[in-house]
Amino acid sequence: MLQKVLKFGGSSVASAERILHVAQIIQSYIARGEKFAVVVSAMGGSTDRLIHMSQVAASGSMAYEDDLHAFAGRHRVVVDELIGSTIHDRCLEEIISGQEELGNLLKGLYLTRDLTTRTLDYIQSFGERNLAFILNHVLKSMGTEAVFVDARKLIKTNDNYGSAKVFMEETKENLSRHFAETEGQVSIFTGFIASTRSGITTTLGRGGSDYTASIIGAAMDVQEIEIWTDVDGVMTADPRIVKQAFPIPAMTYEEALEMSHFGARVIYPPTIIPALEKKIPIRIKNTFRPEAPGTLISQQAPDHMYAVTGVSSINNVALLSLEGSGLFGASTIAARLFQTLAQASINAILITQGSSEHSICFSVAPNVAEKARELINEEFELEIKAKYVHPVRVEFDLSVIAIIGENMKSRPGISGRFFEALGKNGINVIVTAQGSSERNISVIIHREDEAKALAAVHNIFFLSDYYTLNLFVVGVGLIGGTLLQQIRNQENWLRQTQYVKFNVVGLGNSKKMLFDPAGIDLDSWKETLTTSDLPMDMGQFVAKMKSLNLPNAVFIDNTADTELVKFYPEILNSSISISTPNKSASSGRYQDYQQLRAVANKRGVKYMYETNVGAGLPVLTTLNDLINSGDRIQKIEGVLSGSLSFIFNTFGPGLPFSEVVEEAGRKGFTEPDPRVDLSGKDVARKILILAREAGYPMEFEEVEIENILPQECIDAETVPDFKAALARGNDLFEARQNDAAKKGKRLRFVASLEDGKARVSLQAVDVEHPFYHLSGSDNMIVFTTDRYHERPLVIKGPGAGAEVTAAGVFAEILRIGYYLS
Ligand code: ASP
Ligand code: MG
Repeated sequence: MLQKVLKFGGSSVASAERILHVAQIIQSYIARGEKFAVVVSAMGGSTDRLIHMSQVAASGSMAYEDDLHAFAGRHRVVVDELIGSTIHDRCLEEIISGQEELGNLLKGLYLTRDLTTRTLDYIQSFGERNLAFILNHVLKSMGTEAVFVDARKLIKTNDNYGSAKVFMEETKENLSRHFAETEGQVSIFTGFIASTRSGITTTLGRGGSDYTASIIGAAMDVQEIEIWTDVDGVMTADPRIVKQAFPIPAMTYEEALEMSHFGARVIYPPTIIPALEKKIPIRIKNTFRPEAPGTLISQQAPDHMYAVTGVSSINNVALLSLEGSGLFGASTIAARLFQTLAQASINAILITQGSSEHSICFSVAPNVAEKARELINEEFELEIKAKYVHPVRVEFDLSVIAIIGENMKSRPGISGRFFEALGKNGINVIVTAQGSSERNISVIIHREDEAKALAAVHNIFFLSDYYTLNLFVVGVGLIGGTLLQQIRNQENWLRQTQYVKFNVVGLGNSKKMLFDPAGIDLDSWKETLTTSDLPMDMGQFVAKMKSLNLPNAVFIDNTADTELVKFYPEILNSSISISTPNKSASSGRYQDYQQLRAVANKRGVKYMYETNVGAGLPVLTTLNDLINSGDRIQKIEGVLSGSLSFIFNTFGPGLPFSEVVEEAGRKGFTEPDPRVDLSGKDVARKILILAREAGYPMEFEEVEIENILPQECIDAETVPDFKAALARGNDLFEARQNDAAKKGKRLRFVASLEDGKARVSLQAVDVEHPFYHLSGSDNMIVFTTDRYHERPLVIKGPGAGAEVTAAGVFAEILRIGYYLS
């Protein structure tokens, strides 16, 4: 009793070496005592070549001869290499005589210029016949009891050439008889080909060898049908587009049908039907990796954890829409529309009509779109004239993306996740279709977004192992460099505990830029960046980010550049999130700040700048959390500058103010020109950002800044002049200090927001005030709110430095990741 049918596809038998490998697999089955039959297709590419040479000949060109020689030569090489001396010559003779016959046929086509589908089927049969014949003899010369079976003798079909329909009953009888007669031998069948009752050669459709295997399997009621191909099974997505795609271990027949109608051309769809009827499992195996488990297609719904089984796409479709008031309540429009398509044999890939009945959309292959348009416009000529319907609209360069799977049935939230993944990556959905089987949700999108959509959707549904964020980092100095180091160090941790992977795709400093979609190696980024031959150009950098069109992309600006931020709107508009310690954008014009937030919102991405205030301290996050939870901000007070904090925390009796400033400079807390800090402008920018976050549409000019410096200091031309002037003004500071001390207070440089007024000033605070005990260069932010009223909420800690700032950016990228995933 036959237990299995093994089918080997074109790529598995594309060379002598591959054929030998297949013969070895067959022998290993024999060694295990399995009872099975083998089906082979033609050597990879042969069928295309046979069709091509026929067309060339029928067009009246002798050029078909080149193809013919190549075809024949390829088979002779295999015979020479693989078939042992005793039967070699007889084998070769057979191949040569076949080639002569083929030559005559083509000559006939060349003369008559008349290529019928019937002749074409006959010509195509040479591919499978040659190969099955050769494999049979290879096995024989290895000592295996094999028998060559020309399937035309057994598999009977109607005369629908090119895609003939099998007569199952007769075929089954023939096959049963054959297997009874050849007990103990391994049958090597030609795939793809069959014949009519009167013996005229037919074919079962391109890719039809799979179908042959399934017919034999079903007729003989085998336990399993194995389709040996060149991939590890049906993949979760096309591995050429989605690098993280992996083989699906098990799926149902229905899922396999859905997948195979899409990009996953692992199996010829009709194959599934006979197997399904007899409930025979189909296993997809890889000849290149026989040890891989492959994919098992059966009745059993897979009990994997994934909500969907696969993500698939059709790369190029056109969309036609018939619209107009005349569609509403009209019962014949759809019938006439699809009748028109049917008469022209135009296949609609996807169809939708909204319940407003205002339009019917359907997609077709792009090469028939124009024809479809014409025919439909003709059909509805009267309605168009009467303006009941509009002329058909056609859109090109679209792709269909679908999620497929049995587990989606009656499970809410799947389409939500699907659309969310698309939406967050700025992918516009043009058309949606989901059938009531709930096994497939399809959308039509622009073709340029196909790869990004596949990756994003695959990421959402399958990479529960980890989620990839694609990062573009500009500015790799102190903060940027530290950030890259932190990413490098945390790589494993992130993956194992946060299920996130930071993939640094783009890098730029003031001189060079660098891109690698596969991820830049963070052990050697410095060298790679220095030796990159792309000079830095921010416009180009942005253009490149856009053209890569990667999902879950984040742009990180570690510079203080005021020019660079002009690209922010464009970046956010391209659905790329931004995380930045650069204050320029958020403290610029209110209108610009608002625009950035609005664009981010519209595109479903994030614009985040936590490190603008207090570096890594969670200031803005806390403020937002308070507001979002319904608290009301009464007052914000902050010591928001590390240098000013140090200066006033150190300043005290017996220490001249100018010397404290000097010391702060020596410690690296101040800018080279300390006026930058002492002017209070930097602090003003920070309180401005806090005010805006708290909901006040404030401009920089509205922040009231107390000038603590004597005029002489401000007017000084050079830094030494300034320092000298400051020394002369020491009394002034000392007086304020004494004044405060008398009242038991201390001086602090405070930014505050109260009643919509932002102020930066030197204040004397008493022992009750949180700022009183501030020391070193710490920042402190105090929120007084309706809830934190008696005792305010205080955030305190170092508010500057590369490590903590980079860590703040790091945490922010991670938050963006949580939001996107
Ligand atoms: N050789 C045929 C084709 O290329 C059948 C097959 O490969 O399954 O379509
Ligand atoms: Mg912060």
